[in-house]
Amino acid sequence: MKKRILLKRPGVLVCAVMLLTLISTPVLAQEYTAKDLNEQLVMGTLWYQRSAEMRALSYQAFNMARLVFDLDLQKGPSSKTRAVAVDIDETVLDNSPYEAGLVGMDYGYPKGWDQWIYAARAEALPGAVEFLRYVREKGGDVYYISNRKDKFHDATVRNLKKLGFPQVDEDHLLLRTSTSDKAPRRNRVTSNHNIIILMGDNLNDFDNIFRGKAMNVRMAAVELMKEHFGSKFIVLPNPMYGDWEGAAYSYNWGLNDKEKSDTRKKALITWNLP
Ligand SMILES: [Mg+2]
Repeated sequence: MKKRILLKRPGVLVCAVMLLTLISTPVLAQEYTAKDLNEQLVMGTLWYQRSAEMRALSYQAFNMARLVFDLDLQKGPSSKTRAVAVDIDETVLDNSPYEAGLVGMDYGYPKGWDQWIYAARAEALPGAVEFLRYVREKGGDVYYISNRKDKFHDATVRNLKKLGFPQVDEDHLLLRTSTSDKAPRRNRVTSNHNIIILMGDNLNDFDNIFRGKAMNVRMAAVELMKEHFGSKFIVLPNPMYGDWEGAAYSYNWGLNDKEKSDTRKKALITWNLP
């Protein structure tokens, strides 16, 4: 019955074919959005949360820090009180659940970051609490130099205290106030302390030589300071975000999601199959 109708009226047949084609053809110019870009967080975040290698590296960092601290103790009394300065995020606290929460969502940082901090649910990086408590036992002071905003002060105190971190108080928690530059805060500590070790996941946590610099300049600066890594500077891994990413964009954080993806891919060092 239907066949007869279609044959009798070829216009109906053409319309049916056109409709079918429209339904089966994907929309070509799909916009690339934050949701697409967030897919790129999967590997780094999976590694950070689930690889035993990450856990081992965290212990390696804090074990190394203890060795360095012990070596300094063997020198005898220090002219100024010994101190260890640590960054907070991805150095002593693990915010990877926030990053994981972006996967599948059509928005990026900073949406949801405030709520995550206020929830004070970050876990400690393996080995962090033990090492910093050890520093206190040995008479050293612990300073937390973080670019968390001042409005997060109470939540940060709550989170750190809950996990058993030492010296979580006004004098030792140095959050961002006017500038993200950590040098003035480091200088405040060195005015009456010998900083034996700095720990961080971002090279800006160690020295201003890296701040706002291009990728190749950051690499060259690491070469210049290579003696410090493992002796005074101890780096924690962070494949999820950081100034290494900003450097890839020439710090143009205003790029749209597609531009960010393209810029990342363009920065890869690759080869072509012969
Ligand atoms: Mg950090």
